[in-house]
Amino acid sequence: MPGPGGGMRGRGFLTEEEKKNRPKVTWPLIKRILSYLKPYWKQMAIVLLCIIVSSVLGLLPSVLTGRIIDDGLIGRNMRMLITLILVSLGVTLASHLIGVGESYLNNWIAQHISFDMRNDMYRHLQKMSQRFFTTNNQGDVITRMTSDISGIERVVTSTFTSILSNSITLVAAIVIMFRQNPTLAVVGMLIIPLFVIPTRMAGKTRWKLTQESQECSDKVNGILNETLSVSGQLLVKLFGREKYEYERYKTVNGKMIRLNIKESMAGRWFMVVIQTFSGIGPMLLYLVGGIMMMRYDSKLTVGDITVLVALLGRMYGPVNSLLNIQVEWIRSMALFTRIFEYFDMPVEIEEPEDPVIPESSDGAVEFRNVNFSYDEERQILHDVSFELKSGHSIAIVGPSGSGKSTIINLIPRLYDVSSGEVLFDGVDVRKLGLGFLRDNIGIVSQETYLFNGTIRDNLLYAKPDATEAELIEALKKANILDFVEKQERGLDALVGNRGLKLSGGEKQRISIARVLLKDPALLIFDEATSALDSISEQKIQEAIDPIIAERTSILIAHRLSTILAADEIIVVKDGRIVERGVHKELVKAGGVYTELYETQFKRAIEESGEFVPTETEDTDYLNAE
Ligand code: ATP
Repeated sequence: MPGPGGGMRGRGFLTEEEKKNRPKVTWPLIKRILSYLKPYWKQMAIVLLCIIVSSVLGLLPSVLTGRIIDDGLIGRNMRMLITLILVSLGVTLASHLIGVGESYLNNWIAQHISFDMRNDMYRHLQKMSQRFFTTNNQGDVITRMTSDISGIERVVTSTFTSILSNSITLVAAIVIMFRQNPTLAVVGMLIIPLFVIPTRMAGKTRWKLTQESQECSDKVNGILNETLSVSGQLLVKLFGREKYEYERYKTVNGKMIRLNIKESMAGRWFMVVIQTFSGIGPMLLYLVGGIMMMRYDSKLTVGDITVLVALLGRMYGPVNSLLNIQVEWIRSMALFTRIFEYFDMPVEIEEPEDPVIPESSDGAVEFRNVNFSYDEERQILHDVSFELKSGHSIAIVGPSGSGKSTIINLIPRLYDVSSGEVLFDGVDVRKLGLGFLRDNIGIVSQETYLFNGTIRDNLLYAKPDATEAELIEALKKANILDFVEKQERGLDALVGNRGLKLSGGEKQRISIARVLLKDPALLIFDEATSALDSISEQKIQEAIDPIIAERTSILIAHRLSTILAADEIIVVKDGRIVERGVHKELVKAGGVYTELYETQFKRAIEESGEFVPTETEDTDYLNAE
């Protein structure tokens, strides 16, 4: 039997923050929650039935106690006594068995609801734009996917059922008590506030103290972390603050100890009060019952009084739990609200209603007067216009932060333009089928992302049905086949978490192979800014050169050799195209490109000894001025 101290755990109170962020419970919210429950209404109906039956059966032994006393013990009827005991035990067993079935079904429903929610949420998150993932904390997103949805499971398995079973137990107990003896039932009801009120008070006081001591303990930990770390200790020593830190620690530590003692004693004193009050209940029933039995109502039996006392005992738990309902309800609604908030975030980049899907793609790109900003604060691209014809290649160069990656982000619609147009295959990207657009664009990004798995897994991600020969071919073209063959497990070598077992250059060549398998009409190569050793660079260069020569490509280039491989160079500065042309002309023009050449490319060449003569360019670029 749950004792009167059930409310002492303190979870029955809202924190200040929870009070402030109390969710608005509206009809649409309830309807939405119900829509998740609806597919399981049949199972829920069975659960409801189980709860009703097991709650009522659970009370039956208390009622049978009366018969055991009156008919069995006082009536000295052995057969009756044994029958009643067996029935009572049987009923208890049956009620618990039904309880087991009910828990199973309940968990089944909860798991299925959370399965549906998780899937819906995942699908929705996949539709969210890049902006969502760059602005939202990854931890928050994951928390909603995991612990918030687990919270929903708890709501279904425990909150809803506990509300139901406690209400049913309470109502059934009250009805039986009134049928047994209305006067004693009223006396019993009057007693309930006697233990409920002190229990709530005790709970609240203890909860407040627990919170205070938690804050104190956080402070203690904070001090320890700050001052016992290597750099913290250094600071304390160098500034001679040992005494100050010791005093600070001692004060907080002392406060925590006082709080801990207070907390345990508050609990202790209240327990005395509560237990005394809860002891008063049965005694009062015995007293009033005794007076009635002996003085007025000869029909009232010892058994009747015992039943009433037993039922009163069965009411403590449900009353306490039901008093916490409001809090549980608010918490549950807050959980649902938080989850639905994510569902309601608009999908920024949507499939057009009537998407244009050309039969094939030639990879041509055109920017027409494109303006773009990530947020209201700052415009990143200003009136960017350029054209890349099918089969040609363009190198985009410019200082760091000038907007090069932003330009290419707009082509596969990771973001949409603020104004102007981006055309792919001659059609505004916002009118093209998203699947078509992204299928035909391959990006080798600066930050190569490989999944934790084998080289093969990572390659198959681009083309799940690729044959072994196709994989080998792609690796060969990406100039990484030698490396893979040298691995003991070949294609099945593990790349480690995020590909960390591979060097930067190897990772990038694997990702080139991955893009080659995808065989896109347009290839975008975002060259790593971080320096690779010259051999790695050369290998990447050897891989990329023939690819560029044979397909439409855009290269964000930091190295002269890459720049020279392109048909045209676009120079971007502060989000504007400031120059365009070929190396030979640009280097002489005395503008941004000349400056970049002087400060970046030339130095890089001198450092790495890079020397890449190309068919289209003279080799005197090193002395171009
Ligand atoms: P780098 O050569 O260093 O990679 P970049 O020329 O590619 O630089 P971008 O990444 O396009 O430059 O960035 C252009 C500007 O946009 C920068 O000032 C950057 O701070 C800003 N920016 C980039 N991504 C975001 C974002 N998600 N939200 C807000 N601002 C951003």
